Amino acid sequence: MVPPLPRLTRSSDGSSPRAAYLHVPFCHHRCGYCNFALIAGRDDLIESYLKAVHLELCSLPRPHEVDTLFVGGGTPTYLSSTDLERLLHILGEWFSLAAGGEFTVEANPSDITEKKIEILLRAGATRVSLGAQSFSPKKLAALERAHTPGDIMRAAALIQQYEMDLSVDLIFGSPGETVSIWKNDLRMALSLKPDHISTYGLTFEKGSMFYGRMLRGELTPVTENTDLRMYELAIDTLSGSGFDHYEVSNFARPGHRCRHNEGYWAQKQYFAIGPGASRFIDGTRETNHRSTSTYVKRLLDGSSPVAFRESLSPESAAREAIVFGLRRLEGVSKKDFFAHTGFDLGQLLGEPLNRFINNEFLIFDRDYLKLTRKGLLVSDSIWPEFLAD
Ligand code: SF4
Repeated sequence: MVPPLPRLTRSSDGSSPRAAYLHVPFCHHRCGYCNFALIAGRDDLIESYLKAVHLELCSLPRPHEVDTLFVGGGTPTYLSSTDLERLLHILGEWFSLAAGGEFTVEANPSDITEKKIEILLRAGATRVSLGAQSFSPKKLAALERAHTPGDIMRAAALIQQYEMDLSVDLIFGSPGETVSIWKNDLRMALSLKPDHISTYGLTFEKGSMFYGRMLRGELTPVTENTDLRMYELAIDTLSGSGFDHYEVSNFARPGHRCRHNEGYWAQKQYFAIGPGASRFIDGTRETNHRSTSTYVKRLLDGSSPVAFRESLSPESAAREAIVFGLRRLEGVSKKDFFAHTGFDLGQLLGEPLNRFINNEFLIFDRDYLKLTRKGLLVSDSIWPEFLAD
């Protein structure tokens, strides 16, 4: 008997999260830049992972209707057709999608087959987030991705043939990358006519193989200046092609924003299942064990998979709300912020806010505090000052 997971249920005000995330930790191999919660070369764990997900979901007191579902990883489509179908069936027993809801599945281009798309559709998926990353064979090799540009084109065509929303993930700033390679990636991504594009600057995360190679002098990141030029090129190219730049790294055709992620940025509550998955309910964040084998073992032993629980103080929650809110280009309404948190935005942020406004990184546009174009380029350096209390 699995003990109930108290935070996975319902918030104290009686409202139930309207979003759910499921983490699938399996991948073909670990790409050099990746430090996500994942496991490669352990397909023997897939069967017990499916059982563990089932057990974790059984701790919910009842099935829930949600507005958004997101199956991410890892690589969900790495699972065989049979296992993918079983997993989505287990998920569907506990979460039903409300009418007009959004259901995203992350996919690797080389995994997409007609059969898998049909499985996703049968499970109710509406959207595929395709980890394209680049259309340059050299850059894909540098990123240690196993797919080819041809795989991306074929997968995108299949997704669109079945009338699912297509989101394309791209990475810029890989070692040795030039601005012209990035320019071509943007051009090729646009040629697919996707509904959504995410662009992420490569970071050398501690714990990733790239980080170790950088320390040993085997890999050199692109210069800060090149990185900024690439980001600006993405903003100008995608905005100039009819995409709404709605979050620091995200661009959507009108009506095609990722509603699931918008919920995260608005600090809405969400369920989360799977190794390393974090849920946020009623001001408390809980994170499951990152290790797939520990996650599986704990659930099969009848223990809780939770590794870490943190209840945010009202001030910490308010500060986080500002940072998540400012990542959205619409910014944060001072009036709404006060109504939701009870804090005055100006008083809470104090001197750093004035400094960032004086430096033209942030601006008040009537009631809204927003990033300026200059601020967008350095936004990562702003957040730590706002989070410190
Ligand atoms: S496919 Fe994605 S999740 Fe898997 S190792 Fe590569 S970057 Fe990480």
